[in-house]
Amino acid sequence: VNFCSQCGAAVGLAIPEGEDRERHVCRTCGFIHYENPKTVVGCLPELDGKLLLCRRAIEPAIGRWTVPAGYLELGESVIQGAVRETLEETGSRVDVVGPLAMLDIPHIGQTYALFRAQLPQRDFAPTPESLEVRLFEPAQIPWEELAFPVVHFALRFYVEDLEAGREHLHLGIVRWSGTGRRYDPSNYRVEERLAVPLGNAGGAVEAF
Ligand SMILES: [Zn+2]
Repeated sequence: VNFCSQCGAAVGLAIPEGEDRERHVCRTCGFIHYENPKTVVGCLPELDGKLLLCRRAIEPAIGRWTVPAGYLELGESVIQGAVRETLEETGSRVDVVGPLAMLDIPHIGQTYALFRAQLPQRDFAPTPESLEVRLFEPAQIPWEELAFPVVHFALRFYVEDLEAGREHLHLGIVRWSGTGRRYDPSNYRVEERLAVPLGNAGGAVEAF
């Protein structure tokens, strides 16, 4: 932030009264420009035991595989955002059936909220945001061609649950080691990991 979003004057770093950290504060009108993490929302859509992934048509990580996900917009819920992003990237309107993961990435100021979802039918297709959209058997997930480490960890937790026959909500901090390639998951670890069992073993989701 260099210039004030309210008056256009120069902005400088200062600790506002009553706060404990530096903010970008307008030197003219005093407006405080808060910067907070962004929420990324997305789905792991399933059909007949297969998982829908898309190959990114846009940077960063163009050409690599990911779950459909993107930034939450103002005015929408995390589930609405996850469904919208899935529609934009796969052309399919999914039904969210439960949470999968909430993963924080503090060094880039993002939090991912990812949901398990059902594809109502085989009506997916490439979109302006996806070069290719296809269903993968869990054993065929393209681990070496995934877009982001957070996607790698979310898919790993998903597969672990499948293999164990138990569902969890997975929480944790995706921490970069500080060296090595940013897109290589081997340079990351998940800290403060929690796997919260979901008690809804095969039952229907109740909506109120
Ligand atoms: Zn100002």
